[in-house]
Amino acid sequence: MLAQHVLLGPMEWYLCGEDPAFGFPKLEQANKPSHLCGRVFKVGEPTYSCRDCAVDPTCVLCMECFLGSIHRDHRYRMTTSGGGGFCDCGDTEAWKEGPYCQKHELNTSEIEEEEDPLVHLSEDVIARTYNIFAIMFRYAVEILTWEKESELPADLEMVEKSDTYYCMLFNDEVHTYEQVIYTLQKAVNCTQKEAIGFATTVDRDGRRSVRYGDFQYCEQAKSVIVRNTSRQTKPLKVQVMHSSIVAHQNFGLKLLSWLGSIIGYSDGLRRILCQVGLQEGPDGENSSLVDRLMLSDSKLWKGARSVYHQLFMSSLLMDLKYKKLFAVRFAKNYERLQSDYVTDDHDREFSVADLSVQIFTVPSLARMLITEENLMSIIIKTFMDHLRHRDAHGRFQFERYTALQAFKFRRVQSLILDLKYVLISKPTEWSDELRQKFLEGFDAFLELLKCMQGMDPITRQVGQHIEMEPEWEAAFTLQMKLTHVISMMQDWCASDEKVLIEAYKKCLAVLMQCHGGYTDGEQPITLSICGHSVETIRYCVSQEKVSIHLPVSRLLAGLHVLLSKSEVAYKFPELLPLSELSPPMLIEHPLRCLVLCAQVHAGMWRRNGFSLVNQIYYYHNVKCRREMFDKDIVMLQTGVSMMDPNHFLMIMLSRFELYQIFSTPDYGKRFSSEITHKDVVQQNNTLIEEMLYLIIMLVGERFSPGVGQVNATDEIKREIIHQLSIKPMAHSELVKSLPEDENKETGMESVIEAVAHFKKPGLTGRGMYELKPECAKEFNLYFYHFSRAEQSKAEEAQRKLKRQNREDTALPPPVLPPFCPLFASLVNILQSDVMLCIMGTILQWAVEHNGYAWSESMLQRVLHLIGMALQEEKQHLENVTEEHVVTFTFTQKISKPGEAPKNSPSILAMLETLQNAPYLEVHKDMIRWILKTFNAVKKMRESSPTSPVAETEGTIMEESSRDKDKAERKRKAEIARLRREKIMAQMSEMQRHFIDENKELFQQTLELDASTSAVLDNSPVVSDMTLTALGPTQTQVPEQRQFVTCILCQEEQEVKVESRAMVLAAFVQRSTVLSKNRSKFIQDPEKYDPLFMHPDLSCGTHTSSCGHIMHAHCWQRYFDSVQAKEQRRQQRLRLHTSYDVENGEFLCPLCECLSNTVIPLLLPPRNIFNKLNFSEQPNLTQWIRTISQQIKALQFLRKEESSPNNASTKNSENMDELQLPEGFRPDFHPKNPYSESIKEMLTTFGTATYKVGLKVHPNEEDPRVPIMCWGSCAYTIQSIERILSDEDKPLFGPLPCRLDDCLRSLTRFAAAHWTVASLSVVQGHFCKLFASLVPNDSHEELPCILDIDMFHLLVGLVLAFPALQCQDFSGISLGTGDLHIFHLVTMAHIIQILLTSCTEENGMDQENPTCEEESAVLALYKTLHQYTGSALKEIPSGWHLWRSVRAGIMPFLKCSALFFHYLNGVPSPPDIQVPGTSHFEHLCNYLSLPNNLICLFQENSEIMNSLIESWCHNSEVKRYLEGERDAIRYPRESNKLINLPEDYSSLINQASNFSCPKSGGDKSRAPTLCLVCGSLLCSQSYCCQTELEGEDVGACTAHTYSCGSGVGIFLRVRECQVLFLAGKTKGCFYSPPYLDDYGETDQGLRRGNPLHLCKERFKKIQKLWHQHSVTEEIGHAQEANQTLVGIDWQHL
Ligand SMILES: [Zn+2]
Ligand SMILES: [Zn+2]
Ligand SMILES: [Zn+2]
Ligand SMILES: [Zn+2]
Ligand SMILES: [Zn+2]
Ligand SMILES: [Zn+2]
Ligand SMILES: [Zn+2]
Repeated sequence: MLAQHVLLGPMEWYLCGEDPAFGFPKLEQANKPSHLCGRVFKVGEPTYSCRDCAVDPTCVLCMECFLGSIHRDHRYRMTTSGGGGFCDCGDTEAWKEGPYCQKHELNTSEIEEEEDPLVHLSEDVIARTYNIFAIMFRYAVEILTWEKESELPADLEMVEKSDTYYCMLFNDEVHTYEQVIYTLQKAVNCTQKEAIGFATTVDRDGRRSVRYGDFQYCEQAKSVIVRNTSRQTKPLKVQVMHSSIVAHQNFGLKLLSWLGSIIGYSDGLRRILCQVGLQEGPDGENSSLVDRLMLSDSKLWKGARSVYHQLFMSSLLMDLKYKKLFAVRFAKNYERLQSDYVTDDHDREFSVADLSVQIFTVPSLARMLITEENLMSIIIKTFMDHLRHRDAHGRFQFERYTALQAFKFRRVQSLILDLKYVLISKPTEWSDELRQKFLEGFDAFLELLKCMQGMDPITRQVGQHIEMEPEWEAAFTLQMKLTHVISMMQDWCASDEKVLIEAYKKCLAVLMQCHGGYTDGEQPITLSICGHSVETIRYCVSQEKVSIHLPVSRLLAGLHVLLSKSEVAYKFPELLPLSELSPPMLIEHPLRCLVLCAQVHAGMWRRNGFSLVNQIYYYHNVKCRREMFDKDIVMLQTGVSMMDPNHFLMIMLSRFELYQIFSTPDYGKRFSSEITHKDVVQQNNTLIEEMLYLIIMLVGERFSPGVGQVNATDEIKREIIHQLSIKPMAHSELVKSLPEDENKETGMESVIEAVAHFKKPGLTGRGMYELKPECAKEFNLYFYHFSRAEQSKAEEAQRKLKRQNREDTALPPPVLPPFCPLFASLVNILQSDVMLCIMGTILQWAVEHNGYAWSESMLQRVLHLIGMALQEEKQHLENVTEEHVVTFTFTQKISKPGEAPKNSPSILAMLETLQNAPYLEVHKDMIRWILKTFNAVKKMRESSPTSPVAETEGTIMEESSRDKDKAERKRKAEIARLRREKIMAQMSEMQRHFIDENKELFQQTLELDASTSAVLDNSPVVSDMTLTALGPTQTQVPEQRQFVTCILCQEEQEVKVESRAMVLAAFVQRSTVLSKNRSKFIQDPEKYDPLFMHPDLSCGTHTSSCGHIMHAHCWQRYFDSVQAKEQRRQQRLRLHTSYDVENGEFLCPLCECLSNTVIPLLLPPRNIFNKLNFSEQPNLTQWIRTISQQIKALQFLRKEESSPNNASTKNSENMDELQLPEGFRPDFHPKNPYSESIKEMLTTFGTATYKVGLKVHPNEEDPRVPIMCWGSCAYTIQSIERILSDEDKPLFGPLPCRLDDCLRSLTRFAAAHWTVASLSVVQGHFCKLFASLVPNDSHEELPCILDIDMFHLLVGLVLAFPALQCQDFSGISLGTGDLHIFHLVTMAHIIQILLTSCTEENGMDQENPTCEEESAVLALYKTLHQYTGSALKEIPSGWHLWRSVRAGIMPFLKCSALFFHYLNGVPSPPDIQVPGTSHFEHLCNYLSLPNNLICLFQENSEIMNSLIESWCHNSEVKRYLEGERDAIRYPRESNKLINLPEDYSSLINQASNFSCPKSGGDKSRAPTLCLVCGSLLCSQSYCCQTELEGEDVGACTAHTYSCGSGVGIFLRVRECQVLFLAGKTKGCFYSPPYLDDYGETDQGLRRGNPLHLCKERFKKIQKLWHQHSVTEEIGHAQEANQTLVGIDWQHL
């Protein structure tokens, strides 16, 4: 404020020449604003990129612009910004279409290109601005770049210097938060809180003064910090700075921000600032202010950097003219900036080098910088300069990197990114200048690749295993980062023929330099087979050095393919250096690399460790293969197409080290018999298989445009077909398996519809793509991108499919597209002599299958090759033209028998033999297919005019007709077999299905609709009677004996009063699910009195059970063993489990459901105590009087006992004094009917409920124990009633067993618990509860009826009543008491409803005539009106009142019905078991209530009037009626999770505006939304940690304690992830309710597809919450995934 007033204000006046309050708006008005949006992104703000129109993925829009643009209907991606960067709306170079949003479009209409914005300003404003900007900007730069610590620049130096210093701590990325905090506490003696504050600011702003005082004082702190942090690493940077310097620097920063805001008023001002900034200073080159700032970037602290970066972005980058000039300055300083960055340790986003993305991605700027500043070469050379560690051949050597070098290498990688930016948009036009500079850059690039060619060579380890795994990742990181750059280089070359040819020549030259001819030591040898011979060198991959890195060869292969596509290759072949190519040289290294892979696969390199396995993996992996494996195949294809195929095959045999086997007749036989070493046989077999596979690939892989006559779409289609041949896949899975281009696109969307069907996801799982059946014929078993596992899976899947379609299971090779002319000769491999020899040899082995070492895979590959050859010949014949002769004559060649001296049979003949071989069952279909195709081709050839005459025709025809018979018979047998198989398959399918179904049944989640088991006693035994659940007329049900089986010992036992206890595993938890007041939670559990539940239902205790029954003693033994095991385990491993044994938690031994106690199984307890009684029962009035008397007597006795002066002798006198009610015997203590074991379990469960519900230490003597038991019973029933109502389920519909068992046991337990509690305590509770309705002198300060939850009250009264009744021998039955209590509470509830009924909406007029209920309720209301002194609102209509009473009381009635049903075991009336209307009348009948509830009042008007009067006279009720307080209204609405927006990005936007509530306006890093109450929290961060029970916990955990009593459901907005938390140690992630168009979630927002709310999934989460299953869900998740256990959930 002061700065604004004293320092900035005057400048603003000067600038405007008038009051800035008027001046600035004027400027703003005169301004013609730019059409660029330029909004700078905050951290976490959503950004959008259009996949259809963005020039590259770095072009993004802010949310506002996006919503107003045409792209919102396109395919787009959404991401969250990491901060920095700005909206590209309005940048015509960034978008292929629709560069402006609606808002920025308006501005474009008036824009004339390149208008000088200064014309809108008056001359003197310009002059003044110039003046002030120049001075201020210079001052700011001067002071910020000032490096002295205690001395100011001469012109600022003060005369008198005070001794005041700051000890300034700077940020680095080496030390952790903890280290800094710890050090600070020591160094400056601050608290941990303060230290955290310092550390947070240092991290955010880059520096923070941690001490202020004289020099000595600060210096001392500095030395402590330095000493403390220098032990392992370099010390933290600390400076003792004079206070005046710090002050000036702070002002300098202020000025920069001020400048930034001033130029926002006018584009003219902005331009002036740009001019000032770029003006060259007195020192010439690099002396402009902008230069000076950039060059000292790495010396500045974070805060200063971000301020000036922001200024640059809002000034230089927004002004098109100066953007260009700035770009030039940036390029000129590029090398310095990058070097500074590499040595600096801050992240790239805090470096000025990061601005490259803003400059280089602008195509026109990039082009200009390439031609004028030679940017490409500069980038590459800078990069190379930083990687100086080379081997003797000048190649990179990553193997022995030091930590420092590794660090540098990581940072220098960002330069590759810059190179990518520069190349990202291909030129549409080439100037000579551009060609020249590009080729210069290409040269530099080749130099780089040359350093990689052959790097990290490896030698096969024999004998012992390698000692240390060599470093391989660095080389692959480099390769991976370069992959896109290499592809882009090729794309650039492809766009201009001249460039392509030049580049090709250069690349070839470099390759020849790398492998100039045959290197020394490799001697020439001669190979010959079948009369062909070739010269080559002696080289064994298994003995000499070999490298997997061959980027130069691969680049050449890429360029060769491009040439093959271009016209020049055919029109002017003389322009190409094809004659210089030496095919053997081209193929040598790629071939070695492929042989290496084969040998690794054959297990020959096992001793070289995992490093090599990993390299081979990445070589084939989708991330690298495009510029590695794929190109090696292309290079081989290139070389082979220029060679005699026989020569190639011989060289290949030699490199595979298989030459001997195939060149020596009968070598195979000898080889198998002589060499006993099984490993070697196995090895050779694998190598042969691999070699055949390679041949299949060389001939069959024609789907790269340029190799075969295909386009890019065909290529991608083929990839997808093969992926989906393995199994149906989700969109993201498919994307992951396809290579992405530099724009992160796979091109999949454009073709997927053509090859696959989409199947939508259900409530879980994801959407799936399934291959269209017609695409199956394109399946190639030997697709080159299959891994071995994928291949066998695909084979299995395809065969299964064929079997299902009742086809034969042959998987013949697909028909292939023709090769491009340059590659056309490749097909001749198939019919070359050496190939035929190899085929013949292997078939021969198969025929004499016992004599040789051969494998079925080998044979399968040979069959595939034969199939390919036949397909090829067929194609040729089909496309033959008049003048051409088909030179592909495979059919003829395989019909010829071998020549002398071997005299082997023809290939065809061998195939026919094999067709009937019993050991080749699997391949029969394929052989049959070959023979069939052979005949078809044969026929075609005969009918073709140019066909040469076949010699062996006769025999073949004969044979084939003989075959026909055989085939027919076979076919029939086959069909029968298939049918059998199908039936078997169906049966096993059914079996599997059954198991699956039962698994679900078994695990039975709380799905209410899973009507898996109807409850036994739900089936009405006495259906024609009216059923009554309570009271003296309660329906008597014959007692059903209940037998249960213990899951632990499998013994069956009957549930009886006196037998051993049977228990249910149960889980008790606190709950706020029903809470209407989340701000309320138990503050002091030791003093909390739970007797009365407030109607807001905050702080409930919920009990659930999985329904599994055990003997109490079996459970005890089980739990003890779990406990012991856990203790041992913790000592040993210090590992946590998903359950906390110390807190009594365990997993149900059967279903692993989280449990923390057990409930005993009991018979209806009322039956035990209900004495048969035929005497007249009192009515309500009489009953209340009697009870009141009994209570009075009890209270009197209690007082007597407690008053100390009373001797025991006096007791009897007093007893006489007191007139005991008739038949009341307070000295009587009933005998406990339960067995010891049951009593023990009653105590166990009671104590557990008390302990968990109140979070206190267990104490079975505590008087609150019984209250907690009743409360848990009431709360659990209420929560179940809510779920049923919300889902419109009938009250007594089929409940899952576990729920039914749980409620029954819980209710009966609660009813029996008084027998193990102190009688007087329970009596005391009863008295107090009773007094809340029937006032009594000795109980004051009870809650008024507005503040009591009536159902809890009912449960408490009914369950406590036996404690009083057991001493009453006057003849009043327990049932009578229950009924009267119920009626009394019901009436109180009606009054509650009437008092709080909201009757404003009187608009809906009732229908006359009014019925009986309406007039009755109207009368009651009038009475109420009278008692409240007319404070009650005006009398509404009777219709309306009755309606609200009925609606308000329903939940209570339903809960009561459940309660008495379980308590007394009376079956539910059949009407309530079916869904339908409200069942109001049925409920009333069942509960023995009149249908007109108001009759209750009329029947008991005598006592009721006085009671109502007493309720209404309560002061709280008065306050409410006078509007001074609020009260809960009825019916209470169910709680819901918060409403979530449909579009996920609006959530992101909301969260990006959220700042940490504790660290003043700082953006939260992990904003997290509580789905229960909607609070946004700053999670997983030091700033918002709070102390909870003596431990520091994160914001989420802290929030769960107040919002969900320990349980929380959150949405982590940045991650798009649902988080479940329970207590401090439990948590799990859950799939979010947001799906993309492909039916998938995007946890971590990695893919960026637009996400939309899936209501069903959100409902499912809500249901988990309502059912109290969150903790259970966490338990299951943690059991399934042990890593979840290790996460420090409390820090979230
Ligand atoms: Zn924008
Ligand atoms: Zn816009
Ligand atoms: Zn678009
Ligand atoms: Zn047992
Ligand atoms: Zn269980
Ligand atoms: Zn925070
Ligand atoms: Zn909350």
